[in-house]
Amino acid sequence: MTLSSKLSDPRLFRQYAYVDGKWTHGEGGREEAVFDPATGEALGHIPWLEAHQITAAVDAAEAAFVHWRALRADERCERLLAWYDLLQAHREDLATLMTLEQGKPLPDARGEVEYGASFVRWFAEEGKRTFGETIPSHIPNAALGTIKEPVGIAALITPWNFPLAMITRKAAAAMAAGCTVIVKPAGETPFSALALAELAERAGIPAGVFNVVLGEPAEVSKILCAEDRVKALSFTGSTRVGRLLLEQCANTVKRVSLELGGNAPFIVGPDMDPKEAAFAAVAAKFQTAGQDCLAADRILVHESIHDAFVEHFAERMAALTVGNGLESEVDLGPLIHRQAVEKAAAIVDDAISKGATLVAGDQSQAPGENFFMPVLLTGVTHDMKIWHEESFAPVAGITAYADDDQVIEMANDTEYGLAAYLYTHDIRRIWKVLRALEFGMVSVNSVKMTGPPVPFGGVKHSGLGREGGVTGIDEYLETKYYCLGALGSVSGS
Ligand code: NAD
Repeated sequence: MTLSSKLSDPRLFRQYAYVDGKWTHGEGGREEAVFDPATGEALGHIPWLEAHQITAAVDAAEAAFVHWRALRADERCERLLAWYDLLQAHREDLATLMTLEQGKPLPDARGEVEYGASFVRWFAEEGKRTFGETIPSHIPNAALGTIKEPVGIAALITPWNFPLAMITRKAAAAMAAGCTVIVKPAGETPFSALALAELAERAGIPAGVFNVVLGEPAEVSKILCAEDRVKALSFTGSTRVGRLLLEQCANTVKRVSLELGGNAPFIVGPDMDPKEAAFAAVAAKFQTAGQDCLAADRILVHESIHDAFVEHFAERMAALTVGNGLESEVDLGPLIHRQAVEKAAAIVDDAISKGATLVAGDQSQAPGENFFMPVLLTGVTHDMKIWHEESFAPVAGITAYADDDQVIEMANDTEYGLAAYLYTHDIRRIWKVLRALEFGMVSVNSVKMTGPPVPFGGVKHSGLGREGGVTGIDEYLETKYYCLGALGSVSGS
């Protein structure tokens, strides 16, 4: 059964790049297969564009910028809202596509479509509120102020774990600001990006405003980073690649936004009900099979409730079902590919070899070669890989701590600073720990923390800038200051 036959609208499945409003073949004949991580079957192929075709995308975005930026904000808003409506109308097909190429369970994929679409609606509206300022003048007979203007072409490079929402969170902000965009999705999950392009076209977003280029990642990124006409780069992905791109953007002094890795601590205070906290920790750890920058990677539990917490965690974890995301009642899909499984196994072996206890996790039960059964380790310590590296897998590591000062030190003992979770009802502890955590986002007594109104982003090696919220659009805006002099006598100046 082909992929398109699984969709009620087969035209959402595209095996081309999308440049200047045209579905584009690779001119060099290079193409790559895209696989269903659950079955290992090839879902389809995508072309790898040649260098001059990437440059052609920049030409198209440059030409389209002239007209797109000249539209009124409310006109751009209408087109973005039309795109939002189409995302909603095609939610089921978009979710199916995503589950097939990414592996996440269908309900999670539906949730991501909803989440991704919500950024389009949010920024459609925010585009109408890119206010400048009036500045009380210190110069006689002059009026001073600022105007917000779109930066220009934005290159958007995105990962495979959230194939749709990581694109809309960037593209909608950029497009609402008046920028045109060139999206380079992850090679593992291009079809969600291409479906977005199909729907953007149907929404009346003009040719050249939203482009999707495909190709060898390092080659494509080098061209986009070196292009002087590309004024902003927004990247979500690993810290390793983020550093590389930051360097590559130095020559053209681009605006760079980076959403990089996380290594979230999940802190449980001594006052917590161990069962309630354990169930929350399971939810925070195993979303997207652990392939989530917000995954609770280091679970730090007060020693007084540690054993009870571990018991409830293991019980809850045992109830998780692993399988093909298209099947009902599945909680965890496959990992993205075989290397991810090997990395997860190596992290578990490393921890055990250094003294961690394997409480649960039996890989013989895995339903296929890309699947990894949930693992629970206790006695995790600083010298283990699992402490420092994102496992990006359903591997939970628990560590006991004695007091607040110790847990703050433990939580901050990482190069990452994206998100942290804190479970306690003691308001003094909440305030002390919340302020001391070196993370861009802290969620207290809640697993869910993201959404359009939120400034999403990290500190330390987790990135630069914020996406979403009222400031997310600023990543794509320049502030132009003006001084209107020689006005004669200006009252109040
Ligand atoms: P990745 O860095 O390997 O890839 C991300 C993107 O960069 C993909 O489009 C990929 O094709 C491209 N890329 C890969 N190698 C490249 C190279 N040498 N030069 C230029 N581009 C290259 O990351 P991933 O494995 O796709 O995603 C997982 C990572 O993303 C994790 O570290 C995760 O924490 C992070 N992430 C962060 C957030 C956030 O908002 N902070 C959200 C989701 C994922």
